[in-house]
Amino acid sequence: MLYRKKKHQPLCWHECGKRGTLLHLLWECPAVKTLWLDVISFLSESLDVNIPVGPNICLLGLKPENVVGRAAVQSWTLGCLATKRLILLNWKERKTD
Ligand SMILES: [Zn+2]
Repeated sequence: MLYRKKKHQPLCWHECGKRGTLLHLLWECPAVKTLWLDVISFLSESLDVNIPVGPNICLLGLKPENVVGRAAVQSWTLGCLATKRLILLNWKERKTD
């Protein structure tokens, strides 16, 4: 029996037409960016601070300067972790290789 090797698809699985780099899949893709903007908006409103939007803060877990207090920092950290987990679980389910 002949097996055909699957063709490597470097494109984003959200079908946005862009190359599926790690940064694109975790941050830049419009589908993922919308989720991040919703999360940041919710956390900004909940913590009553204006949290800047950026991959260094959201993906790398750097604490925004204006988020102070243990409960606020924990909420911020938990929100970012939950969002990253959701993105990665979605990634794992879609990956077919
Ligand atoms: Zn994309």
